[in-house]
Amino acid sequence: MELQKVDVRGVQVCNVTLQEAVDYIQENMKKAVPTAVYTPNAEIVQLCIDDPSYYPIINSAELVVPDGVGVIKAAKILGTPLKEKVAGVVLGERVLQLAAQEGYPVFLFGGKDASRCEGGQSIADQCKKIMEEKYPNLRIVGTKDGYCKKDGPENDRTIEAINASGASILFVCLGAPLQEKWIHDNRARLPSVQVFLGLGGSLDVYSGNTRRAPKIFIRLGLEWFYRLCREPWRIGRMMKLPKFYFGTHTYKRKLKKQK
Ligand code: UDP
Repeated sequence: MELQKVDVRGVQVCNVTLQEAVDYIQENMKKAVPTAVYTPNAEIVQLCIDDPSYYPIINSAELVVPDGVGVIKAAKILGTPLKEKVAGVVLGERVLQLAAQEGYPVFLFGGKDASRCEGGQSIADQCKKIMEEKYPNLRIVGTKDGYCKKDGPENDRTIEAINASGASILFVCLGAPLQEKWIHDNRARLPSVQVFLGLGGSLDVYSGNTRRAPKIFIRLGLEWFYRLCREPWRIGRMMKLPKFYFGTHTYKRKLKKQK
């Protein structure tokens, strides 16, 4: 399947619906085409603008979907609208359903380790339990918390564990841009993995430790506001959003002048 890409301030975002994204992943699994899936929101695009060394990392993924109303708005302002927001957390669950249906083994990497969780079980292990109960045919063949070193011998052990599990789908949930950088740097060392997904806090949601915004907030494009109210420490990161929004208008005016 050929994907049409839209340039959003230098990030090449695929113009796909949620279903088309799932179909693309399924097709690549069938054809054994290694595929990285990134789900940038406006914060991540602004991060690339502020530090252009991230562009080649984000743009190296085979599937880049717009996870956020900010990216959708920016594409519209720039005159190249995208079909719809594709929330990473929703796409991730669709991939788990696909894995259950087709028998693809999954590995979950990321989230807090057992010592940081009530109940003494890591987020990834909690997630495995809940998702395997929810989807009885799902096989989560390995988990690893995200609070380990991402390089050196400790990272070598993570790679070995993923390879030994035989997983063909890997969730990397370390938050952006750490997870995209990790996938970019390590994918060549993981020959059995065909699909790599960078999915931020999704394991926190699947394990029931974080709740997604109520539907009304999502429909009104205010999911970011709900997250900010529940997790006020995000304010620093979210200050990037107005910069991104107003910057996109300025960028558009500059583009017009150049024409
Ligand atoms: N995390 C991790 N290792 C780290 C830093 C963060 O596993 O070194 C996890 C953290 O526990 C959380 C996720 O990465 O589950 C980041 O979630 P957040 O909601 O901040 O990411 P976003 O979806 O906003 O990119």
